[in-house]
Amino acid sequence: MEKTLFKKIADKEIPAEIVYEDNQCVAFRDVNPQAPTHVLVIPREPIPSLDKLAAENAALLGHLWLVIRDVARQEGIAEGGYRVVVNCGEDGGQTVDHLHFHILGGRSLQWPPG
Ligand code: 5GP
Repeated sequence: MEKTLFKKIADKEIPAEIVYEDNQCVAFRDVNPQAPTHVLVIPREPIPSLDKLAAENAALLGHLWLVIRDVARQEGIAEGGYRVVVNCGEDGGQTVDHLHFHILGGRSLQWPPG
């Protein structure tokens, strides 16, 4: 199966500014940032979307949330506040079929999004 773009980033086949990585996940800066801080957190396992998560992914998901918390602290946005977004499927605006969490911060974010 063809590797996803994000799997290629995780495997260092495509360059990206990685801000954190471990054996389960990678966090890197979005190439088209929508806020002063815009980091994507992905599992190394190429799960296509939130909808494709399985019960056995529960521990991985817990780990990802803790990494998101730590990356936000590392980026200096935890105190001011930030947003975590997961786009799922076509109507959700998902463009890369590899589960990813957007961490957005460093400015006041509007709600609801468009
Ligand atoms: P989605 O729309 O699927 O939720 O988000 C995909 C995100 O990936 C977008 O914010 C887009 O800017 C980012 N992106 C797409 N291609 C690349 C790339 O090659 N490198 C990086 N760092 N980000 C990318």
